[in-house]
Amino acid sequence: MENSRLDASTLEHFRTVLEAQRAELLEQTAHHETSLAEVRVARDGESDDEHDPEGPTIASEWSRLTGLQEAGARELTVIDKALARVENGSFGICTSCGNPIARARLDARPAAELCIDCARRAEERH
Ligand SMILES: [Zn+2]
Repeated sequence: MENSRLDASTLEHFRTVLEAQRAELLEQTAHHETSLAEVRVARDGESDDEHDPEGPTIASEWSRLTGLQEAGARELTVIDKALARVENGSFGICTSCGNPIARARLDARPAAELCIDCARRAEERH
């Protein structure tokens, strides 16, 4: 069937894109990790934070960074799964319905595992 499989050069293209995204993500994670360590030091340094105007700022910075870390970890899992699908040849196929994922969607979001219809249905469930 036409377009049901991606050719080798297309797969290679997405492998490169995904690996670049993965590297970028790891870099961000390392960066956030450094920031978290700094916030931790700042937080531990302020034992009586009740009178400390920085207190709430540190707390909100902490939750912002841990939120970013969690989002980054989830994204990394998604990218790893996409790379595994490049390896086994199922990349570009919706993991839910088995139909090909539109090329435009893959270009916009290479790690996408659902076609647009299934993604929409998944969104509606939330
Ligand atoms: Zn689908």
